[in-house]
Order: sequence, then C-alpha cells, then structure tokens
Amino acid sequence: MLVEPAGTSPAEPAPPSPKKPAVRGWPGVGPQLAERLAKIDIFAPSDLILHLPLRYEDETRLTMLADARAGVHVQCEVEVLSSEVTLRPRRQLVARACDASGEVMLRFVHFYPNQQKQLAVGARLRIFGEVRDGFFGAEMIHPRVKPVSAGESLPESLTPVYPTTAGLAQSALRKLIGGALRHNTVNDELSPVLRQRLNMPTLPEALRLLHAPPPSVSALDMEDRGHPAWQRIKLDELLAQQISLRRAYAARRAKNARSLPHRQRLTRELLAQLPFALTGAQSRAFAEISRDLASDHPMQRLLQGDVGSGKTCVAALAMLQAAENGRQAVLMAPTEILAEQHYRKLTDWLRPMGIEVAWLSGSRKKKEREATMARLASGEILLAVGTHALIEDPVVLPRLALAVVDEQHRFGVRQRLALREKGVAGESPHMLMMSATPIPRTLAMSYYADLDVSVLDELPPGRTPIVTKLIKDERRDEVVQRVREACLKGRQAYWVCPLIEESEALQLKTAQETYETLSAELPDLAIGLVHGRLKNDEKSATMAAFVAGQIQVLVATTVIEVGVDVPNASLMVIEHAERFGLAQLHQLRGRVGRGVHESVCILLFAQPLSQTGRERLKAIYEHTDGFIIAREDLRIRGPGEFIGARQSGVPLLRYADLEEDAGLVDIARGLAEEILHDAPRVADAITARWFGGRAALLKA
Ligand code: ADP
Ligand code: MG
Repeated sequence: MLVEPAGTSPAEPAPPSPKKPAVRGWPGVGPQLAERLAKIDIFAPSDLILHLPLRYEDETRLTMLADARAGVHVQCEVEVLSSEVTLRPRRQLVARACDASGEVMLRFVHFYPNQQKQLAVGARLRIFGEVRDGFFGAEMIHPRVKPVSAGESLPESLTPVYPTTAGLAQSALRKLIGGALRHNTVNDELSPVLRQRLNMPTLPEALRLLHAPPPSVSALDMEDRGHPAWQRIKLDELLAQQISLRRAYAARRAKNARSLPHRQRLTRELLAQLPFALTGAQSRAFAEISRDLASDHPMQRLLQGDVGSGKTCVAALAMLQAAENGRQAVLMAPTEILAEQHYRKLTDWLRPMGIEVAWLSGSRKKKEREATMARLASGEILLAVGTHALIEDPVVLPRLALAVVDEQHRFGVRQRLALREKGVAGESPHMLMMSATPIPRTLAMSYYADLDVSVLDELPPGRTPIVTKLIKDERRDEVVQRVREACLKGRQAYWVCPLIEESEALQLKTAQETYETLSAELPDLAIGLVHGRLKNDEKSATMAAFVAGQIQVLVATTVIEVGVDVPNASLMVIEHAERFGLAQLHQLRGRVGRGVHESVCILLFAQPLSQTGRERLKAIYEHTDGFIIAREDLRIRGPGEFIGARQSGVPLLRYADLEEDAGLVDIARGLAEEILHDAPRVADAITARWFGGRAALLKA
C-alpha cells in the first residue's frame, strides 16, 4: 500500500509510535537524516532491512539506442557529442550523445551546474530512461545519468527503487539499506519443518532477493508482489499481526470478570412486553452474548448490525442479564442526541418493569447529576445510559459488570480503557461493542482477532425498502415540493445540510441559511434545526418535538448521522451528497425506512463530480446492504482509513493486504497458534521485528 515516492512519505499512516529516532549508536546518521528516516518509519538499522522496494529498474543490461522502444525504460551507454544551455523555449540543458547505433538528445529542464560538467563533450555515460520521438528526433527527458569509464562492468542485480521522502535521495537510501543488509543478520525463526511445509524461501533469502534481485527474475513479477519472496515477507508480517492479536486475546482470558449467569427473570419479562418478537438474528446474538456474560473472563464482543437491525434491544437484554445478578451495566453513546434517545427507549421499556435507568450527560444540571451519581455510587441504580460523561472521574460504579459501547468506532482507545477502569478492583467488566459500520469479514477476523463477533444479518420484518434517488441540485425546487407533499400526508422529513469539512463556522452558517430558506419555502410546515453547536437542552427539545411530530422537517447537520430513530420520518434529503463519505451516507439513509411507510432518500449532488464522488454515489445508489457498501468503501478508500485503525491502535500492515492475501492470512492464523504454543521466543522475535514497541498498543 505504499505509493510512489513523489517527495512524500508513504501513504499509509503509521500508528502512533512510541519509538524515537535512534540517532545515537547509528554511525553515519545525524539528527537531520534520522528525522527524515523517521518520516518513512525507519527508526533503527533493523527497520531499514524491512524497507522494501516499490519497483525495480534493470541496469544489468545495455540497449542500443536504435533498439529502444517508446514506453520502455532502458539503459544505454553513450558518448556526449555536444552540450549547451539553451534559453529558448525555456532555460534547459541539452546534450547530443550517440552510441554505435544512433543518436539521442538529452534534455534537462532542471539541472545543477555539476550536471553540466558531467555532460562535457567526450564524456562516457550510462543513461537510464525512456527514449521518445521528439521534435528533433529521438530524445530522453531527464534521464538518470552515471559517468563510467570504458568497459566498466554492469551491476549484477536489478536496481531497487524505494519509497522515500523529501530530502532523502534514492542513492543515499540505497547505500544505507545496503549497509544494514551487510551488518545486520536476520534470522528465519521458523523451524526447518515449518519451512519445508510452507515451501517458501527463508526470510534472509527473501529479503536478499527483494533488495537485490538477479536479472533472471522478472521485474514485473517482483512488482506485483506475487513472487514467493514477497509471499514470505507478507507471511512474516501477518504472523506478527496474528501473534500480537492472539496474545491480546490470551491476556484478556487471563483476567477475571464477574460471572453473570442468565437467570431469565428480567430478560424474559422484557421479551414478554416488547411490542415485537426478536428476529432470529437478534435471538442468536443475544444467546452468544448471554453465554459470554456467564463466563468469569471478560467478554469482548462486537455486535455488528446494519442500521435499523435492532441492536439497542439486544443491548437492553444484556444489561438486564447483569441487573438480574444484582450488577451494574452502562450504555455509552457518542452523542448527546443518541444517548438521550437510548435513555428514553430503555426507560419506556423498563419503567413498566419497575427498573430505573440513570441518565448521565453533560447537559444535565449539576445538582441532578450529583444526585444520579450518588445513587449509582451506592449501587441503588443498576442501569445507566450516557455520553462520555459516564467515564468522567467522579462517576463511581461499584458494581459495574457490563459496559456497552454504541457506535464503538466513534470512541478512542483511551475512552474504552477508561470505561473498563470503572469496574471493580480485580474484575474487568464485560464489554459489548456495537457498530453499524459493517466490517468485511476478513477485516473483522484480522483486525479484531481479539473480538468475538455477533452479526445481526437480518432486519426486523415489515420494513419497506428505501428508494434512493440521485438528483442534480438544479432540481432542488422539485425536491422541496416533494418534501411538502410528504409532510402534508402526515410523514416527516430530514434535510441534511452539506458537509463543510474545512470550517465548522461555515457549516453552521450553511445550516442556519438552509433552515431559513426552507422555512420561507415551506411556510405551511413546521421546520426545526439541529446542529452540533446548539445547547444540549435546545437540541433535545428539538429532537423531542420531532419525535412527537410537532416538527415536520428537521434541518440537520451530521449530528443525526448515528442512531437516531424516528419511524414516522420517511423522507431524507441530503444536500451535496457528493461531499459525504460512503459510510456516512449509508448511516444517514438509515434514518429513514424505519417504519411501515415507503421511504425515499434523495441525494442532491452538484457537478462536476470527482472520480471518488461519482463512485461513492454509484455505490450508495446501487446497494442498500451495509456489508456490500462497506466492501465498496474499503475498495474506494483502502482499509487503513476504513476502520480508523490508527485510533483502534492495531498495527497496520505495510505489505500484506487482508483481502488480496486472504490465503496467507489463513496460513498465518494457524501458524501463529503453533508458534505461540511451541516457541514463544520465536513469537517475540517476529513481533519485535515488525511492530517493535507498538505491539503493546494492541492491548487497548
Ligand atoms: P440499530 O441497530 O440501528 O441501533 P435500533 O436498535 O435503533 O437499530 O432499532 C431500530 C428500530 O427497530 C427501533 O425502532 C426498534 O424498536 C425496532 N426493532 C428492534 N427490533 C425489532 C424487531 N425484532 N421487530 C420489530 N422492530 C424492531
Ligand atoms: Mg443504534
């Protein structure tokens, strides 16, 4: 996933690294160089060895000028016939050179004075580049030039081209890597038996081959990374990942948690009074969660289900299983609106059962909050819902046994850790993470090897599918009329304002303006406005009015993106849909189609569309299945960004690709288990090689 080194660092962001450039004890590397190396994730000589080429250039042979074909990089050996700096059409260095077969013009638009010297008449040069048909005959623009003496031998291996960064020349990097290869030994820790079973080159063989392949291997084969040497490297990297994840899993299994057996008292009562029956998927997921809760090791489970699949009710059942055992359970949501909605829903369900739910959020008055906290601290209230206010210091939960995190990808490692810390000393709470951002199977298995996953792959019955329409923004007037008609028929609508990533202030201004315009355009409807800067009580008053049907059109920024559930809303308009991410569009669209009415999602877009903008709109138009959309998202964006891996603290992969190398992932998974069992020291060596200090982050 590395990109061509156009003066930038590799595209894939590295997770926060605790390592500092190791300047001391690294001969020949001063502070400035160390800083540049750090930019490409090289902190020590051993990292250089794993810094692998993007591609190769073949300088092992010479091509006669007459045989050079357009589009192919070749190396020729020539003698300079003339050279001059011309000023027209612009300042450039132009040289004429020849070999026995013909002539070529060498042209440099940027050049240094010493290049001029290099191109002195009579100089013998090896030039590397592409010969093209120019105005004055064959020419090479900015060829790489190396002065040689007559009869000088050719290199014996392909020349590697490494990803690099501004101020770090290929030649300097090559030299450093060459030195590292000579002075550092890499061991293939795999036993001979394993090696034979794998039928791959050893790690040192693979590394040597990748850094300096003999001309007999095809540069192409090496570049598309299908070569066995690449397979060996990727396997090693995947092994490091699998080992780290397994260790995190084992560490969790070593912790104690309160066992919460399923007593079927409260859960059964809730099931009996819910206005619906659980879907098969909900029953299965709850059974899995229920079993985990009974264990005396902490659960770590992801409940993954598309928007509207009914995760909240599964969470409620899990929380009741804790309450049945006299233990506390909390549900944490990323936004005020969502937390309040959960609070209302849980209260509606549980109050008739005589169970009180506490509500903790920044918006509550200090006095009320303190009263609630006191009752949580005394263990009088067992269930609580809130925002991150739940993890603040003064909140004490002496009987906490289960923490549910909704929209878990919205929270960082630190927040999840803080929640875990709220538990009883010596006991870790069971954790249930919920996410509507579906994670493709291969990603789930690999990034979340320390998570068990339950999937809600079935929507509650009776939903009418959402119709998605793509409409050019010139036809906005028609859309406004449509909103009016729907609302006059008793439906409600969301109108989502354009996302303006660069400026929150501008975003607010737009939301305010949209609200005003729509109010003027639709004088017979009640219009409301919610955005992130409203005071919490204003926000919840507006949401409550929308839920109650007093507001018919809710103008909103993306604060409504996650979780909001108003079944009577059947129309969703998203302005400038081309600016939103795919996952975000899917989430937004999921706000409608929750009731019995036919729902429509209108995506207004402005032209011209960018390539990715077009691809995203096409994907959201064609698909409604969140898993397929996630897959498309992954394809368009690439996995690193996809799950916010940086935030989740899971080491990213540099060479292996979980989708493309799925076969290797399987091998690595099995092998990791074997190695951990038979040779833990080997496991240490492999993870240290790839992750160094970063492996520790996995524990979060
Ligand atoms: P999400 O998975 O997106 O969080 P919610 O939990 O908000 O979904 O549920 C969406 C809607 O479906 C809610 O109104 C909820 O009460 C309702 N619901 C949940 N489970 C069922 C079911 N088994 N049958 C019918 N409706 C259900
Ligand atoms: Mg939800």
